[in-house]
Amino acid sequence: MASQSLSMLLTELAGGRVRIVDLTVPLAPDTPIIHLPPQFAQSHPLTVEVISKFDAQGPGWYWNNLEVGEHTGTHFDAPIHWATGKDLPNNTTDTIAPEKFVGPACVIDVSGEVAKNPDFLLTPERILAWEKDHGKIPRQSWVLLRTGWSERRGDAYLNDSPDGPHSPGFHKSASEFLARDRDVLGVGVETVGTDAGQAAKFDPPFPNHSTMHGAGKFGLASLCNLDQLPPIGAIVIAAPLKIVNGSGSPCRALALVPN
Ligand code: MN
Repeated sequence: MASQSLSMLLTELAGGRVRIVDLTVPLAPDTPIIHLPPQFAQSHPLTVEVISKFDAQGPGWYWNNLEVGEHTGTHFDAPIHWATGKDLPNNTTDTIAPEKFVGPACVIDVSGEVAKNPDFLLTPERILAWEKDHGKIPRQSWVLLRTGWSERRGDAYLNDSPDGPHSPGFHKSASEFLARDRDVLGVGVETVGTDAGQAAKFDPPFPNHSTMHGAGKFGLASLCNLDQLPPIGAIVIAAPLKIVNGSGSPCRALALVPN
């Protein structure tokens, strides 16, 4: 019975046999945000304005006003974020079915390849090699690309250079394979966005966004602690704020992991 499953989950959590891994980076004014090519408008980082802090403005309470780009820190990308997904039904943060905010995780570890090549792109061949070891990616799974990138600090995280940023991502054919042949929920990455750093120059530009959102799939960016997840068996819970017509939002991404 469903009620038994839920009480069992609580027992497993209390007993430490299921653990919660926080996949979320701290959200602060210095949290890295994506830099688009200079001809485009830029997203704002987080700014925090204190409303009151136990002072004349509010003697008994502390609270802040926030200003933040939707795509800041660990965040959720909704299909309306991209031109390819702009006319799909239920494509905004407030209209996506909440069932979609919970799903199994398949973690593909390419950190070895990325250590040698920061421009590494996931290919369908690499996905099939992963499936040989771990089985076919189930429908409505999150595919999380473990690159080790979240361990980078300072300028090394965005890894900007005169010819644009250098960071790993997906070959267009891999995004197509995951969206169409595997019908995933979406992809999650440790980098600042779900496309490779050089993807503004790809054909089409930003092919992972273009493909995933065009197929009604989602994105999770700036994840961390993917090294604490098994290749299969974890469950991701990641929900954006219910912003009306929102294209995405910072989120608290958590994983339930068997110990
Ligand atoms: Mn985004």
